[in-house]
Amino acid sequence: MAFQTIKGTHDILPEDSTRWQELERIIHDVAARFGYSEIRTPIFEDTRLFSRSVGEDTDIVSKEMYTWEDRSGGSLTLRPELTAPVVRAYIQHSLGRKSPLQRLYYMGPLFRRERPQKGRQRQFHQFGIEAFGSEYPEQDAEIIAVGHTIFSELGLKDVTLKLNSLGSGECRSYYKKALQDYFNPLKDQLSETSQKRLETNPLRILDTKNPEEHKLLAGAPSISDFWSEDDQKHFSHVQDLLSSLDIPFELDSRMVRGLDYYTRTTFEFISSNLGAQDAVCGGGRYDKLVETLGGKPTPAIGFAAGMERILMSMDSYGKSVKGNLVYVINLVESASGKALQIANEIRELGFAVTLDTLRRSLKAQLRDANKMGAGKVVIMGEEEINNQTLQIKDLTTGKQEEIAESDLVKHFTV
Ligand code: ATP
Ligand code: MG
Repeated sequence: MAFQTIKGTHDILPEDSTRWQELERIIHDVAARFGYSEIRTPIFEDTRLFSRSVGEDTDIVSKEMYTWEDRSGGSLTLRPELTAPVVRAYIQHSLGRKSPLQRLYYMGPLFRRERPQKGRQRQFHQFGIEAFGSEYPEQDAEIIAVGHTIFSELGLKDVTLKLNSLGSGECRSYYKKALQDYFNPLKDQLSETSQKRLETNPLRILDTKNPEEHKLLAGAPSISDFWSEDDQKHFSHVQDLLSSLDIPFELDSRMVRGLDYYTRTTFEFISSNLGAQDAVCGGGRYDKLVETLGGKPTPAIGFAAGMERILMSMDSYGKSVKGNLVYVINLVESASGKALQIANEIRELGFAVTLDTLRRSLKAQLRDANKMGAGKVVIMGEEEINNQTLQIKDLTTGKQEEIAESDLVKHFTV
């Protein structure tokens, strides 16, 4: 008998592995330029880690996990996603104590027992990033900008960013109630799964892939009617920042994403040349997850992208990191869009750039820049912003000079 790969799994042969290596290189490279460090966690974990975080009523937990009873008792599961393991590691190693802002990324295989088809495998690969510690919209914008940069450097065409906010706190329970009120009279037209979800988790109904149910969704209430004033403000600030970064997006108030832990900003990058499985990347804020898994309350946001789907839809490659770290210090809250923009312009030139998203003082940020071994610091204060100038401090020589904002590219090119 000749053995074959198990259904839904694939070999990556030498003729393909160079493409994989190139994709991995670009991910490492862009992540480094944004100041993200790699984390690697085990392939299997305690089953409860996933049921508690991803949610009992999700497709993943209810039917897609590879789970078994260990010989010494206890239930183990091959990881079906990587946010929960990364959060576990964040808590287990008290990473929050090492720095108030942790920027992490990962890459590796995942396992879900789905029906194999184009763009859907049982063992597949994701890379993803997670930022722990900041609740502010500039962190949301940075996360999305990392995805946007990777996809454009990969030469991915026809990618659309879809954006929504799931609100926070009370908002979800009001929305849950409104969905129940809407779907209850239509119960007979719902699938068996959706009927069950109607009681426990009606948001999941919006995730349905069933075309009959899709028709019912059209009249369903929209989450946007339930946002608190703070949710609304947070979300419009995220949108403003994306606009100032020239990252186009479409609003989609029915996008709830397939996992339970999201709060506020959620997003997907969709590729139009992939067919039915068109999402290359999905992510969002999960401000309550660290707490749910036993850590201190810590706001966080991240995304995960499917590497097979990226390879299916791409054709060219980009550039690599040069020089040492540049740290951008912005002291004016209303200029955070400009600061993100400036950071990106310097990254475009190939430099690694870090930007504080905790709104700390000049002194604290300079200390941080020194600790990280930055070569240069770009400072934007009230006066610089009014005069359209920038202070550039060379941390190796201690010299500081003022340049016109329009000379930024020139300054970093020489
Ligand atoms: P989909 O709607 O396509 O099922 P999802 O919501 O289950 O996606 P996530 O759990 O957010 O996806 O995973 C992030 C990304 O991982 C997806 O956007 C996709 O690119 C990829 N992905 C998810 N499941 C698979 C799979 N079975 N095979 C290959 N890639 C996958
Ligand atoms: Mg899925």
